[in-house]
Amino acid sequence: MEDDTPEAREGIISDIRRIALASAATHGSTTARIVTAKLLGTRPDLRRRAAEVAHMVEEVVSEVNAMDPADLAAFRPEQKKAPPRGPLPELPGAEPGGVVTRFPPEPNGYPHIGHAKAAVINHEYARMYGGRLILRMDDTNPAAERLEFYAAIKVDLEWLGIRFDTIKNTSDDMDILHQKAAELIHRGRAYVCTCDRQRSSENRRAMVSCECSRLNPEQNHSRWTRMRTKYKSGEAVLRYRGDMKSPNTTMRDPVLFRIIDERHPLLGDKYRTWPSYDLAIAVEDSIDGVTHAFRSKEYEMRNELYHSIQESLDLRKPRIDVFSRLSLRDMPVSKRLIRPLLERGHIAGYDDPRLPTLSGLRRRGITPEAIRKFVLSLGFTKSDTVAPFESLESFNRTVVDPRSVRLHMVNDPARFSLRGMPDVVRLPALPGSEKTPRALDCSGDILVESGDAPALREGVARLLGLGCVRMASDGALERTEDQKTAPGIHWVPAARSLAVSLVVAKPPFRGEEFDEGSLTAVDCRVEPYYAELPDYAMIQFVRFGYARKESARQAIFAHK
Ligand SMILES: [Zn+2]
Repeated sequence: MEDDTPEAREGIISDIRRIALASAATHGSTTARIVTAKLLGTRPDLRRRAAEVAHMVEEVVSEVNAMDPADLAAFRPEQKKAPPRGPLPELPGAEPGGVVTRFPPEPNGYPHIGHAKAAVINHEYARMYGGRLILRMDDTNPAAERLEFYAAIKVDLEWLGIRFDTIKNTSDDMDILHQKAAELIHRGRAYVCTCDRQRSSENRRAMVSCECSRLNPEQNHSRWTRMRTKYKSGEAVLRYRGDMKSPNTTMRDPVLFRIIDERHPLLGDKYRTWPSYDLAIAVEDSIDGVTHAFRSKEYEMRNELYHSIQESLDLRKPRIDVFSRLSLRDMPVSKRLIRPLLERGHIAGYDDPRLPTLSGLRRRGITPEAIRKFVLSLGFTKSDTVAPFESLESFNRTVVDPRSVRLHMVNDPARFSLRGMPDVVRLPALPGSEKTPRALDCSGDILVESGDAPALREGVARLLGLGCVRMASDGALERTEDQKTAPGIHWVPAARSLAVSLVVAKPPFRGEEFDEGSLTAVDCRVEPYYAELPDYAMIQFVRFGYARKESARQAIFAHK
């Protein structure tokens, strides 16, 4: 009986899947023979059920052989004797112990799946070479940055398992960045431009320089002093003397410093001139000792500028490499789309389970291990990836399956009475476990899904964990002889079950449109063991899917 519970069956299938994935990942594909031999080697208890097991193996093997080889790579068992290698390609010019990478988010929002990719790649490379990883808050636009976001970035990346050797802010180096500006002016590589914005963009399009670019360093120094004290915001910017004739538009005298009269979350009103991304990143990467800088593809055009600024300042030039951006389909990460949803109250916060933020994913039970595996499975590709949520889901399923507590849950109940049953049946909380803490009361009425009611009325059905039943003439369900083919039905005790609201999140957008129906709550009846689980426990609602307990009254659906 015990071996026959759906929990035990799932335990076997999960063992089979683990073996099949490891074998296919190593050899490119696998066979039922290999998997069966390995399985029976580790689970001698299954030998007497070889025929039944063979069927399960066949199913899993064909499923695994149909997987994309790129997805399989993450399941390759670790080779103990191999040199410190990661799942990423080797870094050109990398010396063991001498690699320094950095992750430079701007604290202007919550970290999301795209940040996770950048952080994981930088972390992985630093680990691969025994090097160092820097977290640098790229915080030189006080109009956009908030203290809340600095904290969210640190907390969520720590949750993701990223360990930084150095944590700093670009704004720590404001004096250095101002010195570099003065140095560029002194070397004739920068000038203060007072043209209005429209005029400047026309000039850049027409590839012509403005009058300001003809001023000498002395004149620029005095304009620079005025910029730091007198000019109003928008009246002057410091420009790099790039190349107005360059086919690369980012080289056409880009802005290095601008006036922003806003309070900075860390520095208050201490500065009013703030470096642009291009200046800050070029200087910081160099002085922080970064050896390998990774940027997403959208910045590829800026690489020339990055190295040109470093050359103009006689700064060491890190290598730069480009990787693709990652997003999830219909779960955009852009603040342009997410901020209005928050402002209009469509979503309550950045941890809304519909969002691809790390805090949103965490709330719905996506694990850091799954995110890391998912990111690394995509490798170091250069074309942008828009992955369906399901591909993250499948990594998560293999992570959470062995640790999810199995529970019965009914969402559209039909009531039946039981007769001639033991008072209580005890079931394991985890598949394959000997411990059976789940006590289900069978002394009174039970609830099943109304969709399962016809099977109970019309023939023999198996109440999971209890055995096969047939309906008597008075409508009560009575124990009957076991039938292998009887459909398995999950159930909860009517009297002792708990009311739990199950929140189901779908992608918040359909194309560009916000989907009003993307978050629903389903009223469910759950077996009483739910009350004993700690908050945030992972659950598998049998025959329904995975969820995360949020509170005594609410759980959040993760995925099938
Ligand atoms: Zn000008």
